[in-house]
Amino acid sequence: MNSGKSTSLIQVAYNYQETGQRPFVFKPRLDTKNSKVLSRIGATLLVDHQIETSDDLFQIIANEFSQNRAVDCVLVDEAQFLTVSQVDQLMRITVRMEIPVIAYGLRTDFLGNAFPASQRFLEIAQNLEEIRTKCWFCKAKANFNVRQNPDGSFVKSGKQILIDDGTQVTYLPLCARHFDEFVGLK
Ligand SMILES: [Zn+2]
Repeated sequence: MNSGKSTSLIQVAYNYQETGQRPFVFKPRLDTKNSKVLSRIGATLLVDHQIETSDDLFQIIANEFSQNRAVDCVLVDEAQFLTVSQVDQLMRITVRMEIPVIAYGLRTDFLGNAFPASQRFLEIAQNLEEIRTKCWFCKAKANFNVRQNPDGSFVKSGKQILIDDGTQVTYLPLCARHFDEFVGLK
């Protein structure tokens, strides 16, 4: 998705690695393309664990420590796809293990509705930072990410989470005005 989220995540990971520290990178498995975090500028980073919906993220990090593999920071890519419980498990890592957790994700889906995980982050995160993206059409601040069909039309209904089944679907950042024009505010 066209924003600087993955670039930021990779940069943070490199900063930790440079000082001999170990970042642990999570990414939901439903992004089936690969086991790497990819940024639009071409940088890549290996994912340490691809998350299943049944995974307990706190337990996974606890297991790392029990096997003498220290974790200095936890990074999560595409965090909007976590379950609500997994967002709480990340918080538990922070408060019980005192490890910083930085999760990157979208606030809303292609129809402008909050992802359940993103809503939970909003409720419990100690810090929220916005990564600004520009509207594809007018360069105004984009706070919507719409789904676009191969023919250029915009998707106006469908599942919130689209498993990658090989269909060519792209996402486009839009400002509120253009979202209203092409998809429609409620
Ligand atoms: Zn616009």
